[in-house]
Amino acid sequence: MEELKEKLFNKKKVGWENIETRQKEEIFNFCKGYMDFLNKAKTEREFIKQSKKVASENGFKDISEFNELKPGDKVYFINRDKSMYLAVIGQEKMENGLHIIGSHVDSPRLDLKPNPLYEDGGFAYFKTHYYGGIKKYQWTAIPLSIHGVIVKTNGEKIELNIGENESDPIFTITDLLPHLAIEQMEKKLKNGVEGENLNLLIGSIPINGENGTEKVKLNILNILNQKYGITESDLYSSEIELVPAFKARTMGFDESLIAAYGQDDKICAYTSLMAMMNLENIKNTAVCILSDKEEIGSMGNTGMESHVFDYFVSELLNKAGENRVNLLDKVFCYSKMLSSDVDAGFDPIYANVSDKNNAGFLGRGIALVKYTGSRGKSGASDANAEFVAWTRNMLEKNNIKYQLTELGKVDIGGGGTIAYILANKGTDVIDCGVPVLSMHAPYEVTSKFDVYEAFKTYKAFWNE
Ligand code: MN
Ligand code: MN
Repeated sequence: MEELKEKLFNKKKVGWENIETRQKEEIFNFCKGYMDFLNKAKTEREFIKQSKKVASENGFKDISEFNELKPGDKVYFINRDKSMYLAVIGQEKMENGLHIIGSHVDSPRLDLKPNPLYEDGGFAYFKTHYYGGIKKYQWTAIPLSIHGVIVKTNGEKIELNIGENESDPIFTITDLLPHLAIEQMEKKLKNGVEGENLNLLIGSIPINGENGTEKVKLNILNILNQKYGITESDLYSSEIELVPAFKARTMGFDESLIAAYGQDDKICAYTSLMAMMNLENIKNTAVCILSDKEEIGSMGNTGMESHVFDYFVSELLNKAGENRVNLLDKVFCYSKMLSSDVDAGFDPIYANVSDKNNAGFLGRGIALVKYTGSRGKSGASDANAEFVAWTRNMLEKNNIKYQLTELGKVDIGGGGTIAYILANKGTDVIDCGVPVLSMHAPYEVTSKFDVYEAFKTYKAFWNE
């Protein structure tokens, strides 16, 4: 019987089991690079800036620098500093299909309101409007850093990054002491901290002088003016984001895990970017999407719903001398895509939200999610069995550990990714990413084993 079991059962083994020292070192080294990158790239703009640097160092050039494209050429296109597409031109004609991997580089956070600055009770504050799906109470009483840009009317752009260096000040949103929180503690968790109260404490010294009101606010504005030459109105044309000031860190006595902010979805963005850097002599043209605005529905001109990606692919076709009327539609219909976004990892503490048989486990490799959606697969892009089989074959040939998973129990919640956007254009798409614990929290947890399997998966897909 045991023999038959061995032959027929899907064994779902943990990837760390009986791992060789050399292999473990390879995984740990790769993850060190990942954590270093995360510490330099906490926002979408910073991620794109770092990606451009890495791409340039590896022979990629802006597509505008090419008059024509031939196999082996490496190009990128940056959309408003917040999203990016990269491609390595393959031997095959593009009309036979692209191999696309698409992730997103925005993560849940707190944005400043257009009129953020005010003074109350001797403190100066920034008012915020949260971005993406957060549990608001998690964002109080932790160190936060300020990242972003302020653009003056003359076009001058000031880049902010305060709170990441040890010598920088940090900021925080205060919470009520338990002694006086009887009423707050009676509230539902989602109402415990209200969105309107997510106000960032930014200072407490009044400006010198006897008279006048709002002296703390004035002092802050004076500091900002001396440092950056801005006035209060310049905050109108800014994009300032508050993110956790924590560093990405190795976690656990066995050092098998990573704790970091923004791993959804910078973990898939980083691993796919790295996989793209060393591609040579590939068959189908490889395309890497680093998109923005996924956490708020992929809308707007840097989100995946925009037509900027179509424009990029059209440019590839134009410069490869392949383009003709309606070819773009055909290209999408013949393309394959891994929608590389994170998956909910099985958390034993909250085991009741998962179907253990269909949950993604940390340390068991890359998670393929055939469909997402919620309540009867509503809104899901459901990958067809043929494409799942193709993907399985690609993974098994390359000895990559993978699991087929679902996001939680039926009717308990749900979610989505950018998968449906390309699928709606006719592309074969499957969600394919890394399982995460504490997703969307200021500190998210992943397994180093899965990070490396993701890298191997993306490399294998593009080399297929
Ligand atoms: Mn995501
Ligand atoms: Mn997300």
